Amino acid sequence: METKRHCKRCGERFVGRSDKIFCCDSCRNDYHNYLRRERNKGMNRVNRILSRNREIIRSLLSRSIESIDTRELSMLAFDFGYFTSMDKRILGRTCYHIYEYCYYYSANGEVHFSLKE
Ligand SMILES: [Zn+2]
Repeated sequence: METKRHCKRCGERFVGRSDKIFCCDSCRNDYHNYLRRERNKGMNRVNRILSRNREIIRSLLSRSIESIDTRELSMLAFDFGYFTSMDKRILGRTCYHIYEYCYYYSANGEVHFSLKE
């Protein structure tokens, strides 16, 4: 049965089947894209941070810089609270991973980077 109703996205009145809630495909897609963006907000924020950290390491290694002071790294906007995984290596040293890269802290306040084997 065709009834008059209001589009859930744009609010325009339209005529359609009783179970239809959007006036057109564009409104339906916009609405679902909006819901998806809202659902992924937290994940996107973390992904941006990980991506920035990864890019900082990639950029340093591309210039053959394999270690850097933690303060300098901090000034490059590296976020130490985000990494993809971590593990303990020789001598109990903790290695942090950001995708294909890993890094560890040394006692002199430097961070050492490498590409995972
Ligand atoms: Zn609409």
